[in-house]
Amino acid sequence: MRVLIASNIDSHAIERMEKEGLEVDVMPGLDEEELERIIENYDALVVRSSPKVTARIIDKAKKLKIIGRAGVGVDNIDVSYATQKGIVVVNAPGGNTVSTAELTIGMILAAARKIPQADKSVKEGRWERKKFVGKELRGKTIGIIGLGRIGYEVAKRARAFEMNVIAYDPYISEARAREVGVKVVDLDELVRNADIITVHVPKTKETENLIGEEEFEKMKEGVIVINCARGGIINEKALINALKSGKIYAAALDVYETEPPDFDSELFTFDNVVTTPHIGASTKEAQEIVGMIIAEDIVNMLHG
Ligand code: NAD
Repeated sequence: MRVLIASNIDSHAIERMEKEGLEVDVMPGLDEEELERIIENYDALVVRSSPKVTARIIDKAKKLKIIGRAGVGVDNIDVSYATQKGIVVVNAPGGNTVSTAELTIGMILAAARKIPQADKSVKEGRWERKKFVGKELRGKTIGIIGLGRIGYEVAKRARAFEMNVIAYDPYISEARAREVGVKVVDLDELVRNADIITVHVPKTKETENLIGEEEFEKMKEGVIVINCARGGIINEKALINALKSGKIYAAALDVYETEPPDFDSELFTFDNVVTTPHIGASTKEAQEIVGMIIAEDIVNMLHG
């Protein structure tokens, strides 16, 4: 039985599968064309947020029994087509929740206190204390869109910073929100009242462009906008326009409409936009857990 790892995963997960007699080929950075060419040789495939696993690839995957997403979001996999073809798709929910929540808090602090800009200035030999006057988080309202696993952990941490927490999530119970001291509101109320807006929904047809021109119009002056979920949930064009208008105090992005993004995009010309290259789940701890969950699922499936 052969397993293709098309993204970097933790070495313990690879050892776990090899111990069970599976032949594991590790080819991180494989693109869709290469994947399409070799997928017919494999019984299991492991990906992260890339490469895309399209219907074309699935059609070539004659032996494939399982696709493991070492992470949460399965928006890069054509899950319904895979299921139709009898291929099981598994993910590892929960494994990277805390890592992504912690990055989100880091992004909020970086944006509010202009940490990346200040760091750059010092390293360039300047001492510009007046330039980097920031904002405190205490007493501010954070609006969390999507109060699932990550949203919930962000809420807990935001409470520790003495922030008021409101959330929009039509699929959770009031009781769950109350547990963590969150007031549930509708999207309109959230975007009008939040000083910081952070999205933690999966990318679906419903959530794509959830935050667009109309929502930016309604936002408070000086709002901070964070996206550590998926590119395109906040429309990039609308964000650029809002940044140009001066309404936005800062934005912080870990994810982009296309990845890698178009580096010539205007998005990367703003001083008050903090960027990271989709590293929400990139901690040793998260990768270990996520890798192990997927390795167990593959072992069970191929030996079960
Ligand atoms: P989750 O399923 O636990 O939570 C998602 C929440 O969004 C749920 O509570 C759901 O009810 C809510 N939701 C769904 N549709 C909605 C809508 N239209 N409006 C408002 N709320 C809606 O998932 P999670 O583990 O918290 O992860 C959330 C997302 O974060 C993932 O789908 C993934 O795309 C992203 N993520 C990014 C990274 C990263 O590296 N940056 C890492 C992990 C996860």
